[in-house]
This record gives sequence, structure tokens and C-alpha cells, in this order.
Amino acid sequence: MTAMRPIRSTSTRLLATFVLAAACASCTNVNPYFDPSKPHHTREGFRNNYLQGPIGGNFLRWQWERWRDGLPKPPANGYAFPVERPDIDWLKQNRSEATATWIGHATVLLQVGGLNILTDPMFSERASPLSWIGPKRKTPPAMRIDELPRIDAVIVSHNHYDHLDLPTLRALDKQAGGPPLFLMPLGVGDWLKRQGIANVQQLDWWQSHPVGGSRLHFVPVQHWSARGLFDRFETLWGGWVIESQADGKPFKAFFTGDTGYSKDFIDIHRRFGDFDFAMIPVGAYEPRWFMKPQHVNPEEAVQIHRDLRARRSLGIHWGAFELTDEALDEPPPALESAVAEAGISPGHFYATPTGQTRRIDR
Ligand code: ZN
Ligand code: ZN
Repeated sequence: MTAMRPIRSTSTRLLATFVLAAACASCTNVNPYFDPSKPHHTREGFRNNYLQGPIGGNFLRWQWERWRDGLPKPPANGYAFPVERPDIDWLKQNRSEATATWIGHATVLLQVGGLNILTDPMFSERASPLSWIGPKRKTPPAMRIDELPRIDAVIVSHNHYDHLDLPTLRALDKQAGGPPLFLMPLGVGDWLKRQGIANVQQLDWWQSHPVGGSRLHFVPVQHWSARGLFDRFETLWGGWVIESQADGKPFKAFFTGDTGYSKDFIDIHRRFGDFDFAMIPVGAYEPRWFMKPQHVNPEEAVQIHRDLRARRSLGIHWGAFELTDEALDEPPPALESAVAEAGISPGHFYATPTGQTRRIDR
């Protein structure tokens, strides 16, 4: 008995230490950017503008139900989605036409105002901190990093692994012709500098930065951040407004990143007016009881398109990574129905095959 006591007390102490460390890691973080005049700043990190209650539900319940129901179901025609080969030579020489090429997931090459802007670049095999486990790509990116035209600016919405892929950012930093400007959410920019990438600017909500003759603004959306177990909400998340010129006229584009539906889009429209083009997520939305606060479904994506009064919108964030419970091929027909139901003509909010370039007409 006496021999047992030290063992038990050691293991109890170890357990208590672990629990305390876990609790403290999440509760004693100090936000180095804290500005008490900004309602979305907290002493520990950041919060959403309109969300009451938690961002997700019971994660273990979701995982259990997912396993029990065998979700997600495979796509009806298997995982071999068509990938179009972009016209790389044309993209490299284009400086005058506004275009968008969906490279896959949330990665879009946006050409506007003589600039090449790349959103949430993700060219890796897995959206995970580990190379051997985590969501694996089902559809390859439409082109390789070294096939891209020289990128002027990279914009990143938040630090989740399917949006911020460090190997991709490191490769872009070494692109021929010099590194792009990396525009990052507040906190993510300093983190990226610590990874050895230097040409970085980080922005708080409603701040902006010039690139060439264009101006890029970081704006609020409803989501969250984390790269580990104990860093939720420590760095900021958001969308990007690109104010530029096309055909000698002002041109405004919006990249949503990940978001739940919120009044933030009404606020964004109030500040910027009507948009020419929006890139809005249409995938990763089931089950609704868990995903609704953080990921819109196609109906809510259409509501964002309307709130922004976007002339054209492209549905992104589907087809590459199987992150949630809907089948990987479900978003395009669901978007088509939502667009029809809203009385919007189909060419105004569309999904394209991976790799397709569309000229953004006005
Ligand atoms: Zn996310
Ligand atoms: Zn995502």
C-alpha cells in the first residue's frame, strides 16, 4: 500500500499539471494587439461582431454522428472531377483584362488593375500540420506554383490549414522576379515573419494597404482562427476588398475567406458600395447545427452576393478537400438551385470546373 501511494500521487499530480496547463494555455494568453477602443479586440484575442454564443457545437458529437452515418458519402461519379488546364502563357502576358482563375479550394488567381493577386494559396497535398495525416486533396490544383504568373500580392483570410499553407507561401516567397507582398490578418503577419518570410504587412479590420495603383482592405467576416489546440481566436480572420481599376473605371472585388452568414456584409456594402465581383464559399456547410455559425451554405452564400450587390460571384471552397458532411460534388447543384430560387440569373453567381479562367465582364 505504501508503495502505491507515491505512484498514485505522481500520476494525479501529472494529470492535474496537464489539465492546468491546458486550461491556462487557453485562458492566460495575452493579446499583444489589444486596443480597448475596438469591440472585436479582447484581452486574449479577437471576437466576431455579430455572433452570440459559441462558434461551433460539440465537436465530439459531430465526429461521432459522422462516423455512425458514414458521412460524407462519395460523389455520385467518383472523385475524378474535371480539371481544366489554364492558358498559362495568356495569363502571364495579360495585364489589361480583369480575370479570375479558380485554382482550387479557396485559391483564386485574380488579375485586375495590371496586378496578379492570389487568394489563400494552397497547393499542398494535405490541409494539416502533419504531412501524413489530415484532410487529403481529392482534386489537384489546376497549375503548379512555378507556372503562375509573377504574383504581386498574396492575400490570406485566416490561419486555418486549408487557407494558410506554409510550404506554399515559402515557395511563393522564392518566386522568380522577387517575393510578392504578403497581406495578412493582424497577428498572422507577425507569425509569418517568425517563419522567415519578410515582405509582409498585417492589417486589422477596416485597415488598408496600397499595391500598385490598387488598394486592398481587410474587413470583418464571421469565423475564427487556430493552428493548434490552444490558440483559438488569437489571430484575426476576415475578408479582403480589392479596390482597383478595369477598363479605366473603378473596379471592386471581394474575397470572403471562410464565413458564417452575418450582418458584416451589409456593413461592408455600406462602406464600399456595389461590387463588380465576389468570391464566396459554397462548400463545407454540413451538418448545419455545427457549421452554420462558421461556414455558409449555398442559400446564405446567395444572400451575401445580394448584400454586396455583386454583379458577378464565383463559388469557391468546394471540390478539393472533404472537410464536412456533404458530398464533395453537392455544392454546385445546391448553388444552382439557390440561385434559381432567389430569382438571380445563373451567370451571375456560378461555380466553374477547377482551373477555369473567366473574364470578369462589367
Ligand atoms: Zn476556416
Ligand atoms: Zn476553409
